[in-house]
Amino acid sequence: RAPEAPDYLIGLNPEQRDAVETTEGPLLVLAGAGTGKTRVLTTRIAHILASGRAYPSQILAVTFTNKAAREMKERIGVLVGGAVEGMPWLGTFHSIGVKLLRRHAELAGLRSDFTILDTDDVIRLIKQLIQAEELDDKRWPARQFASMIDGWKNKGLTPELIPEGDARAFANGRGRQLYQAYQDRLKTLNACDFGDLLLHPIRLFRENPDVLKEYHRRFRYILVDEYQDTNTAQYMWLRLLAQRPAGETVNLCCVGDDDQSIYGWRGAEVDNILRFEKDFAGAKVIRLERNYRSTAHILGAAGNLIAHNDGRLGKTLFTDRSDPEDDKVQVHASWDSEEEARAIGEEIEQYQKKGEALNDMAILVRASFQMREFEDRFVTLGLNYRVIGGPRFYERLEIRDAMTFFRLTCQPADDLALERIINTPKRGLGDQSVRKIHDYARSRNIPMLAAAREMIDTDELKPKPRKALFDVVTQFTRWQELLETTPHTELAEQILDESGYTEMWQNDRSAEAPGRLENLKELIRSMEGFESMRGFLEHVSLVMDADQNEDMDAVSIMTLHSAKGLEFKTVFLPGWEEGLFPHQRALDESGRAGLEEERRLAYVGITRAKRNCHIWFVSNRRIHGLWQSTMPSRFLDELPEAHVEVGETEVSYGGYGQSRFDRAEPFSNTYATPGWKRAQQNSNDATRDNWGSRSGHAVERIGYGESGPRGRTIEGELVARST
Ligand code: ATP
Ligand code: MG
Repeated sequence: RAPEAPDYLIGLNPEQRDAVETTEGPLLVLAGAGTGKTRVLTTRIAHILASGRAYPSQILAVTFTNKAAREMKERIGVLVGGAVEGMPWLGTFHSIGVKLLRRHAELAGLRSDFTILDTDDVIRLIKQLIQAEELDDKRWPARQFASMIDGWKNKGLTPELIPEGDARAFANGRGRQLYQAYQDRLKTLNACDFGDLLLHPIRLFRENPDVLKEYHRRFRYILVDEYQDTNTAQYMWLRLLAQRPAGETVNLCCVGDDDQSIYGWRGAEVDNILRFEKDFAGAKVIRLERNYRSTAHILGAAGNLIAHNDGRLGKTLFTDRSDPEDDKVQVHASWDSEEEARAIGEEIEQYQKKGEALNDMAILVRASFQMREFEDRFVTLGLNYRVIGGPRFYERLEIRDAMTFFRLTCQPADDLALERIINTPKRGLGDQSVRKIHDYARSRNIPMLAAAREMIDTDELKPKPRKALFDVVTQFTRWQELLETTPHTELAEQILDESGYTEMWQNDRSAEAPGRLENLKELIRSMEGFESMRGFLEHVSLVMDADQNEDMDAVSIMTLHSAKGLEFKTVFLPGWEEGLFPHQRALDESGRAGLEEERRLAYVGITRAKRNCHIWFVSNRRIHGLWQSTMPSRFLDELPEAHVEVGETEVSYGGYGQSRFDRAEPFSNTYATPGWKRAQQNSNDATRDNWGSRSGHAVERIGYGESGPRGRTIEGELVARST
């Protein structure tokens, strides 16, 4: 070891430093939240580069989100003192998958300009296949089959590999055949779905050992963050790249935390982390125990909560920070979700008055529907916010339409794109014409646009639609030609004008139309940062966590799932009620395992907070348009009293201007939630017993009857909680 350590190593604790400097051989860093796992990975890459062990292009580094990849790259630059050139293989599994597939598309039966379909396209496509099989698409919904396919792909299963039972479960036993038909169709369309971005590389590595060998040589160092949430396909992919011939070691470093595995519902296998030592002989395991992120109260609360899960590896976490000034975790109650949004808004403004930046605050929700109320409230308050990972700009109707024009221009074989816009704006090409083009294309086994081109010279179509089709074909042909010569933003504008799409919204009298036109303008603007239309399309299909306006000071709103790996000074966790959190679906579908995954999600939520953590629950919530009375989440009972206090929430509602909750006793008897209080008193009780009694309460609390809030307009709408 050099006598003087480079700057980037200073400040690391001995275990972290060991993890950074153990560059050779397989290494697992297994450690709790906020212990510096991501920091270790980043520093490790800096170390590999600075010590000349590898070039940036020889490092394969996998992060969980695109945003995390960008941040990591920036940090590495800071650590090595100067921007890092390249790092082409730093990204998510998907983005690395695309890159591999573009390079070797022909080995997967695709051309390198293949399209990546989004969920809507996939569903439309499957629907067509189901109809083509003359199956009832109401009985066998395309959406359901899409998620089955996704599940198989997450497990690395191609059609011939899916279990017999699975294949039987759909479409009168035609599941396998449909899956195969779907894959065939994708190939004809020169397209792939998200799952294929992993499956195709896996297959092509297996079938082409020489290609795999090339990547073995290339990737001298492999690093993976959030390893606990890799699914089987990702694991297979990684194994192929990491497993070297006998006698050769692989420099593989995975970091993760079994307590933060929260994507089981999407096929993640926490077992992958548990069997690391078996998979990679001679693996070293380093544990980090010191938490640098949170106060002792926050850690204490999170630690007590997660201790209710079985089957953990078990980890110690401690912090040196114990400031008597630190606030405990605060639990607040509100009457309903509107009050909750209002109260959190006020809380945020308080912090702001104390000089805190909005960027340091986040609201983490269990379900995305919870976001709207905060958005509404913040718009009213004029408080900046950004939604991370939610319904986004690129998902808006007009944006998706516009992008479909661009897609078809870049990718003439994209039949789904053609179908989406062939009659938008309306040009007299109805379903009948589309079906004719479709049939013609199928019979000739050519893309629909090519079929359309041929059909113009036949009398398959009536004169009017034929003229319309002629126009469409001519336009796309011209745009395709312009693709190589005209700047892409200019071309994009031209496409929207010439196609009549812009005009369609200009003539539209609806209230949304002006906003849509603005969005289209914004779309063109957003293309400026890209070199080509193709590059832009690829970006959009990949960047599902598109951040809006990174520069403004704003509160972040996101789901707990998308908060993984992030940290904020102040975190608000609303909606801690039975049925919402833990989510009823998780309990119904996966029982105890589902509950444990929900608890890990709660653990992830609390441990995002550096200094302040506020948890909220409400007594009434509107779910699917119906008011339901709710019970505080069982997770609240699992927070230790020593680290928690009940916040001073003044709840005024219904114009009465009075507090329903006594400060010392937040729940008056009228609105008693005895489960919460009793469990607080004897918090060491086996929690399950409490559940039993609490669900009993839930039944008693059906409806509000006489104790309900008289005079409230919602009174008539209050309904039973169950069913
Ligand atoms: P998570 O499990 O939530 O992903 P993590 O283990 O990846 O957490 P990091 O995000 O890397 O943890 O680190 C948490 C915080 O602690 C960061 O702000 C990081 O900069 C800081 N930190 C990590 N190690 C040290 C250290 N040795 N000295 C000071 N701060 C540190
Ligand atoms: Mg991390």
